Amino acid sequence: MAYFQMSRLALKWVFAKPVTSRYPFEPRQAIAGSRGRLVFTRDTCVYCTVCAKKCPTGALVVNRAQKRWTIDRLLCITCGYCVEACPKESLELTTDHGSPTVTKDREFC
Ligand code: SF4
Ligand code: SF4
Repeated sequence: MAYFQMSRLALKWVFAKPVTSRYPFEPRQAIAGSRGRLVFTRDTCVYCTVCAKKCPTGALVVNRAQKRWTIDRLLCITCGYCVEACPKESLELTTDHGSPTVTKDREFC
């Protein structure tokens, strides 16, 4: 009896749709208000370094002389302090989490 019940259950789940989504083949549905990837807009940035000073993890480094903004994605905890502090609205946290990083390199912008 138990054998038939077990077989019926096994067959049911063989043909059932998966409970979880097939990420990354199916795009993840963004949750409204969630904090995802930090996006930098170079055109409006004045390289004031405020964002780097406010960052609690040291993920941001801004070089005013070279006009270079860099981020270590592995250090960023998406707290949003830099977004709030930026006087030029050059930073934004999107709901997109972006692709996983495969290196420990800093991202130069
Ligand atoms: S705070 Fe804003 S304007 Fe200043 S360096 Fe950072 S991104 Fe650029
Ligand atoms: S979101 Fe937070 S941790 Fe990430 S770069 Fe901005 S201040 Fe730093």
